[in-house]
Amino acid sequence: MINKLVIIGVGLIGGSLALALREAGAVKEIVGLGRSRENLESARTLGIIDHAETDLATALKDADVVVLAVPVAAMQPTMAQLAPLLSPHTIVTDVGSTKRDVLGYARQHLPGHLARFIAAHPIAGAEKSGATAAMANLFRGRNVVVTPMPENDPEAVQKISRMWETCGAVVNTMPPSQHDEIFAAISHLPHLLSFALVEDIAFRANAKELFSYAAGGFRDFTRIAGSSPEMWRDICLANRDVLLKELDAYRTQLDRLRTILANEDGAALAQIFDHARTARAQWLASKQDSQ
Ligand code: NAP
Repeated sequence: MINKLVIIGVGLIGGSLALALREAGAVKEIVGLGRSRENLESARTLGIIDHAETDLATALKDADVVVLAVPVAAMQPTMAQLAPLLSPHTIVTDVGSTKRDVLGYARQHLPGHLARFIAAHPIAGAEKSGATAAMANLFRGRNVVVTPMPENDPEAVQKISRMWETCGAVVNTMPPSQHDEIFAAISHLPHLLSFALVEDIAFRANAKELFSYAAGGFRDFTRIAGSSPEMWRDICLANRDVLLKELDAYRTQLDRLRTILANEDGAALAQIFDHARTARAQWLASKQDSQ
């Protein structure tokens, strides 16, 4: 049971966490802080938070857990503001999509609080943003990656793991560098490609005509280009070293396909498509088995 939960950034992820914990009866009081008055008012009206607070010191008083659920670049100024106001017993955690940068900010701004700063990333989301997009069941059956630091108090790690399990999630732990490498490949690169394809089509002279014929395939490939530009700018910049390597590897793959196509090598093309289709089917089947 969390007596007082403070959520900074009551958007899709912060709001969904609040709803899931509330539905599980695992929290007594939820206080929200954020950027716009309008979003916090929606969060209050929707019953996501009990009240919105503008004064950070008041919000942090007697807080058991503080969740940082703002875009990753906003974690740094947020931690700097928190630092002088934190009580030693308060656990601080985050939901950021990149982990090396967030842990670096924690080392910089919360050096005396590292035992109780627990970094985490729920592997669930949507292309929608803000409190109105929050869903109580967003984390059910989904993974949450915790990237502990050597300084972490094991009890605090356990408390944050239990918080996510209460939301129906499965918790895994791994080093932050491994986390950032994995998600560069299977999340950050696909988002970059999706944004790039829409950008490419949208600025052609005949864009209107092209869009008028775009259907299911285009919709599926570009769904994630509907995601928050601010959030994805921050993620791409924070993980740029690994993401650049992924982008280069993908360009090599595109060059390979280009050569095969130019050579009219149908057998090679079919072999690649067949490998990819089989790998995708196996991935989907393994997902169904584990759920
Ligand atoms: P979101 O729906 O846009 O929510 C972010 C919230 O943070 C908004 O309520 C926003 O306020 C607030 N905010 C933004 N900048 C702020 C600042 N400087 N100070 C205080 N509040 C600020 O985004 P989200 O999808 O929940 O993402 C939140 C975090 O979760 C990010 O770190 C992201 O990397 C991570 N994450 C996202 C997903 C996903 O698929 N969406 C999945 C896993 C993890 P306003 O509404 O007033 O602008």
